[in-house]
Amino acid sequence: MILSRAAPSVMASFPRSRKGSGLCIWPGMRQLCLRKTLVYGFVRLLSMPFKTLQGVSQTIGGVSNFCSITNMSSTLQIELVPCLKDKYAYLLHDMDTGTVGVVDPSEAVPVIDVLNRKNWNLTYILNTHHHFDHTGGNMELKERYGAKVIGSGVDKDRIPGIDIALNDGDKWMFASHEVLVMATPGHTRGHISFHFPGSKSIFTGDTLFNLSCGKLFEGTPQQMLSSLRKITSLPDDTNIYCGHEYTLSNSKFALSVEPGNEELQSYAAQVAHLSSKGLPTIPTSLRKEKSCNPFLRTSSKVIRKSLNIPDSADDSEALGIIRKAKDNF
Ligand SMILES: [Zn+2]
Repeated sequence: MILSRAAPSVMASFPRSRKGSGLCIWPGMRQLCLRKTLVYGFVRLLSMPFKTLQGVSQTIGGVSNFCSITNMSSTLQIELVPCLKDKYAYLLHDMDTGTVGVVDPSEAVPVIDVLNRKNWNLTYILNTHHHFDHTGGNMELKERYGAKVIGSGVDKDRIPGIDIALNDGDKWMFASHEVLVMATPGHTRGHISFHFPGSKSIFTGDTLFNLSCGKLFEGTPQQMLSSLRKITSLPDDTNIYCGHEYTLSNSKFALSVEPGNEELQSYAAQVAHLSSKGLPTIPTSLRKEKSCNPFLRTSSKVIRKSLNIPDSADDSEALGIIRKAKDNF
């Protein structure tokens, strides 16, 4: 869609370092990504408590410090790697130990390119679910780096090369970072999300997208609702890293069912601007999604009226109807 394989060097970065490392972007994209970082940073700035703002004002002249302020207590660096037509893999880098993981590598080559440029090795491959556009790079990466593949125990027969099977409620350590595994079925039976509470980040694969949720290939609306509620029980300032860049089209659907939502209007304008520049809209925040994402707003009277959902319908029925409307949008 907006980031293609033809530009494998396109990579945005969201450093998460108390050490204030520099921007990790390739020269050709530096200008554009700086703009994105500034937009992102500005949005963050508006929502920060005053005490934090004081710290920001001292470093606002240095963009690299400016973009690392959101997670000063974490040494987890998250790098976005565009894959296929509209897919994102994410490289995780622990700055203390040099441990590197990748979430959902659709294909190996773009990931290898970044690892080569950074001179990083790959220790772990994390899969949210078995679909090929999330696991297509598993075997080549595993063979090349000896990386361990981590995925859902429910899908251990469908995830290529799986070494470590995790289930709902399991805790796993990525270097010193605690990872909480959440079963989030609905899109597939065995879908899981990886929550890094120390970095206030969650990788939601194809369960929760910016302004939408995944298609219900192997689950019911009730299962998806329950999965989304697990995610929305996390703190509002949780950063959400989803599997695909679908945000622009999702924003059009969201506006069609809730046109008067001012926060959504503003977010949709921001998304349109980023997309017009070929920039990622990732990550989003839980707070923003709760205010704008129709699949998290199943009790909204406006959305229900837009789609003729009766008052008597419960939230899972409403979600099913919203999902059908989105499928046909
Ligand atoms: Zn999928």
